[in-house]
Amino acid sequence: MVEHYDVIVVGGGPAGLSAASAAASKGGKVLLLELQAQIGGQTQSVAWLPKEIVKRELKRSIASEVEEVVLHSPHRRVGISGSYGVIVDRRLFDKLLAVQAVSSGAEIWISSPVKDLLKNDGTVRGVCAEAGSWSERLECEIVIDATGMSGRWSGLFLREILGRKWDKERLVLSNEYLMANAETEKRVRLFFSSYFAPMGYAWIFPFGKYLAMIGIRGVRIHPDAALDEFIGRQELPGLEKALPIAAFRRQLPLENWIKQTHSDGILAVGGAAGQIYPVSGHGIKYSLRCGEIAGEVAVEAVSEGDPSSEFLEEYDRKWRSEFGKELQIGRMLHSWLQTSPDKKTDALFSAMTNDIELQRDFLGVFLPFELEKHLKRFLSNDKVQKIFGQNNTDKALVTYFS
Ligand SMILES: Cc1cc2nc3c(=O)[nH]c(=O)nc-3n(C[C@H](O)[C@H](O)[C@H](O)COP(=O)(O)OP(=O)(O)OC[C@H]3O[C@@H](n4cnc5c(N)ncnc54)[C@H](O)[C@@H]3O)c2cc1C
Repeated sequence: MVEHYDVIVVGGGPAGLSAASAAASKGGKVLLLELQAQIGGQTQSVAWLPKEIVKRELKRSIASEVEEVVLHSPHRRVGISGSYGVIVDRRLFDKLLAVQAVSSGAEIWISSPVKDLLKNDGTVRGVCAEAGSWSERLECEIVIDATGMSGRWSGLFLREILGRKWDKERLVLSNEYLMANAETEKRVRLFFSSYFAPMGYAWIFPFGKYLAMIGIRGVRIHPDAALDEFIGRQELPGLEKALPIAAFRRQLPLENWIKQTHSDGILAVGGAAGQIYPVSGHGIKYSLRCGEIAGEVAVEAVSEGDPSSEFLEEYDRKWRSEFGKELQIGRMLHSWLQTSPDKKTDALFSAMTNDIELQRDFLGVFLPFELEKHLKRFLSNDKVQKIFGQNNTDKALVTYFS
């Protein structure tokens, strides 16, 4: 007999785990399929997150507090002291999210890559999971695609429903090294340079005692070569005696805007839905909350007996009303750095020297942390308007606050 579920979630990252928890808490019969042999597998490294989303049990995954951020542009350096979130160990963070999903009643299968969607009259009715000689057809009312954007099998919704792939020209590629024997205290460093990281940046994150994560992301780069060259050329405070002991290569579709994240019998969430803030490339906040919305809407659709695209549009509407403008602003800000990025970051960091409010507003807008509070002040600042053009800053203010 073929096993039948209410909701099948494909992908066990933050988006999938959050969707599975929410759907199971609402009483749905939920199965989550993860292709790797463990949740929080070896391709996951660390993440910089606002403190308020690392709640209760998730706090166990905190590897370091962030008490200072140092920004480097080609000719400027600004140090900003204050409490700016935490660095979490993704391997543990994701496992703790899995604890929540399992205790809510969701079933999880690891080592279970989904290769195909099962469809009936154009409506998604399940998935086909397959590994080696093992294969399983699993039926359900709703599939939630939470496959992220990093691997060969990810982006099911995009490929199978929208019939396209991530635009390679716009993919931000990244590589990170875990460094042993590092001395980074509780300090994050961000390096902006169009030479090393076009349309991106490089970073050093503290990762507990004597460990640090150094990474680079940019468009049209070879991420391994770019990171090696960056390490070879730049003076990297705290890493003088450090050596790499692990590497993590990934990719992000920063510029894509997926117009539709639902269809008959299927929802897309997290990285698979392009829910990434283009300026920093951060996205876990959206994955967690949009996953929750997706799980809840999926169970409502099941209890109403209506997995149609029209019913599932509720998911699209809800997540865009919470984050649509934020992601739109992120795209606008990111595009401002397409021309003369080094000149602009030099000018901005120079304007920020000795202006503590502007420093905090920049970080709030970059990450984003408390965007609403920081964006208005940042875009209304005379110097910022001069650097990015008042037409641009006015347009961004109208976009966000109208
Ligand atoms: C270098 C880098 C650094 C980042 N740093 C930060 C940060 O500091 N803070 C932050 O908030 N965000 C950060 N992000 C973004 C963050 O990683 C993503 O927003 C987040 O991981 C998206 O979560 P997700 O669950 O959608 O996808 P993922 O975390 O990618 O999870 C997808 C899961 O689906 C599985 N999967 C894929 N295909 C299949 C399949 N066919 N069948 C079964 N399983 C499948 C994968 O194995 C994976 O476990 C960073 C991203 C990169 C690339």
